[in-house]
Amino acid sequence: MDKPRNTPGQDRAPGADGTLTRRSFITGTAALIAASAAGIPARARARDEDPFEARYYEKLDHEEIRCLLCPKECRIGDRERGYCGVRENREGTYYTLVYGNPCSLHLDPIEKKPFFHVMPGTAALSLSTVGCNMECKFCQNWQISQSRPEQVDTEFFPPSLIADRAVSVKASSIAYTYGEPVVFIEYMQDIAAAARKKSVRNVVVTSGYIKKKPLLDLCRQVDAIKIDLKAFRENYYRDICSAELRPVLDSIETIAGEGVWLEIVYLMVPTLNDDPGPIREMARWLLKHAGTDVPLHFSRFFPQYRLKNLPPTPVSSLERAYDICREEGLRFVYVGNVPGHRTESTYCPQCGKQVISRSGYRIRGIELVDGACRYCGERIPGIW
Ligand code: SF4
Repeated sequence: MDKPRNTPGQDRAPGADGTLTRRSFITGTAALIAASAAGIPARARARDEDPFEARYYEKLDHEEIRCLLCPKECRIGDRERGYCGVRENREGTYYTLVYGNPCSLHLDPIEKKPFFHVMPGTAALSLSTVGCNMECKFCQNWQISQSRPEQVDTEFFPPSLIADRAVSVKASSIAYTYGEPVVFIEYMQDIAAAARKKSVRNVVVTSGYIKKKPLLDLCRQVDAIKIDLKAFRENYYRDICSAELRPVLDSIETIAGEGVWLEIVYLMVPTLNDDPGPIREMARWLLKHAGTDVPLHFSRFFPQYRLKNLPPTPVSSLERAYDICREEGLRFVYVGNVPGHRTESTYCPQCGKQVISRSGYRIRGIELVDGACRYCGERIPGIW
């Protein structure tokens, strides 16, 4: 179930190793779902039968609609879809085409997301549908994010069955991950509600490119959100991700303000977003808007998708970024995708002792007592 320690890329969908063709990947994930869902009486349903109405849009004249889910605010005519390709206007009513249709479903260590301050050592039932509202040139799950609903052959998994499955496999949480959960928000919200009734937590792995109203709703429904902050420059978001930085920063402020547990991942791509200047600016911004306790993970890049021309991130660049952010006062900074690195463990910011020992995705020891350092009693923030 776990991936090898040297697998490049945190939270890649199983099978998405970048060497498969889209067709073979899709075939593989269909089999994965069948295997993962053993015991779940999934109900087969044709995709176009009984589509689910989207929650965040407004009707315009002439059967047009405007999507109000993400900052792209697509204006969509009858029988057309938005940029993400998974939401469609039919005669002035907007529908999600992926509700109940995960394309990947797997049991992962929560460290793989990565969440380092949320129930360490537990399993997260992880799922995604196809579709994304961005297109990052380095996407490690592009086979999912850039596919369309017609390209995946799945069955219907109602939210209650996903929640039941989490209980039966002893998952402490459900993770909405791999692709971009924003584009399947209705499905995520309904699974989260079903999971809460069964005392299963909900954690979201997202780029944070979402408008404030749906994000505020989501904050009331889930326990933790991890934001992929791609860079601290607008031109990087525009040129590499087909998106904007400002709305993502707004999302970080909103989540922090709502008191939902927040972690940040920064994928460091050589020559594109590894400049120390913007990293220092980012650290100062996070301190001011998210506080000293927000965990920040610098993740090592490996060449894939449309950025195969670049080398893996030098470990020295990650360590430099780590040092900058610690100097600025962030208390929990990590280097990811470098198995065995000392900074993949958690250290008490008061006494300096190791309080959570990690090796890759494995937990080797936890020295917390009721969420506090066993050695000095300092509170370590998180969900324990
Ligand atoms: S969620 Fe999709 S359809 Fe809606 S605004 Fe964003 S890209 Fe467009």
